[in-house]
Amino acid sequence: MPNPQFTKPWHGVPREQIAWNPHIIEEACIGCGTCVTGCSRLVYRFDFERKKPVVVDPLNCMVGCTTCANTCPAHAIAFPPIESVLALEGLAQVRHAVEDDLLARHDILAAPAAAALPHPDRIVTLTVTAISHPTPDVMRVTLAPVQAGECFCEFTPGQYIELWEPEASHLSRSYSIANAPHGDGSIELHIRRVEGGRFTDWAFKHMKVGDRLQARGPLGGFTMRSPAGVPLLFIAGGTGFAPVLALLEQQVRFDPARAMTLVWGMRRSADFYALDTLRQLLAEAPNLRVLLVAESGDAVPATMERLDYAPGTVLDALRKDGQLIGHCDIYAAGPPAMLRELAHALGAMGVEAQRIHIDSFGV
Ligand SMILES: Cc1cc2nc3c(=O)[nH]c(=O)nc-3n(C[C@H](O)[C@H](O)[C@H](O)COP(=O)(O)OP(=O)(O)OC[C@H]3O[C@@H](n4cnc5c(N)ncnc54)[C@H](O)[C@@H]3O)c2cc1C
Ligand code: SF4
Ligand code: SF4
Repeated sequence: MPNPQFTKPWHGVPREQIAWNPHIIEEACIGCGTCVTGCSRLVYRFDFERKKPVVVDPLNCMVGCTTCANTCPAHAIAFPPIESVLALEGLAQVRHAVEDDLLARHDILAAPAAAALPHPDRIVTLTVTAISHPTPDVMRVTLAPVQAGECFCEFTPGQYIELWEPEASHLSRSYSIANAPHGDGSIELHIRRVEGGRFTDWAFKHMKVGDRLQARGPLGGFTMRSPAGVPLLFIAGGTGFAPVLALLEQQVRFDPARAMTLVWGMRRSADFYALDTLRQLLAEAPNLRVLLVAESGDAVPATMERLDYAPGTVLDALRKDGQLIGHCDIYAAGPPAMLRELAHALGAMGVEAQRIHIDSFGV
């Protein structure tokens, strides 16, 4: 019998809607019974005559658990790909249910002070000094330190920070810094509106100049790893442009003659922003080429040499023009789904993994 204790909704999703349970590969199973006795949720029973486990209550299985498969000496247990669970974690309702659950059970789940490990977290207070909305779905936000020196002056281009919504101590999200370090410690973020998103809903409706926000960082390892002289291909999807812009700005400042290409993809051509910034970089870097690609909308006019437009996706562009990848080291940032597809495609095209650097915006 399915046990109600084990079959309750998983972060708000009814358990019966989630295909997650073990499958026995009969011909490999040696009938040791480890899975049957090892699972505390009574998913299995044992067929004593045949000496084989039987999956009797699949819904009792804990979503994401693979303990029985890991401990099976004959590798005779299979599960669906973990991507099916990760896709659920990509749903706002699941993310919000986890957040609400953490808060509701704060007293039980909060780590005791004695268990806290010393950590290098650096939390500073920043103030919003400028906001612009280059498109209805993107905001560019400039933040500056409230106190001189209390900033992320030492970050490496490509890194990100975690930003807290004021008055909501639990609500924080990560945003890439969209510039190379400036002497005054200011940073720019590019925030894309997410339908039903908690932080972006607040940011688009309520964030204003003068707000003070807590920020943690700098974080992340999406930083320049390639030796000088190696040509670079930057690939950005949506606001994945932010960390890529920081890396580009760094290169244009320190090695403007470097061979570099940026391929930037958007859903609609009207979504491109910061084109003036790109034009300025193109003017300073004679071997930089920019290719904008969008799945729909009018072509972006080629107002400048080395600034081109093509309809389609980033992957279409890479497949169409093999020269884009060439011998470049690749730096790609954007939504997880796009990057998963890109990583697969680059692997299939024979690009060695050590040439690919990826910054995934997501779970
Ligand atoms: C390293 C990193 C850098 C990022 N940089 C940028 C950036 O420069 N610009 C930008 O627009 N966005 C960036 N993001 C995404 C950003 O952190 C938020 O996830 C996004 O703005 C949605 O937040 P929300 O509260 O509005 O939406 P939510 O209420 O969280 O829900 C919307 C969806 O966001 C998804 N989601 C993805 N990642 C996370 C996460 N880490 N925490 C919570 N939910 C997540 C959830 O799956 C959910 O479906 C980055 C994410 C990471 C991990
Ligand atoms: S642990 Fe593996 S080999 Fe042992 S009974 Fe279970 S499936 Fe069969
Ligand atoms: S995955 Fe975990 S919960 Fe599911 S059957 Fe195996 S041991 Fe039990």
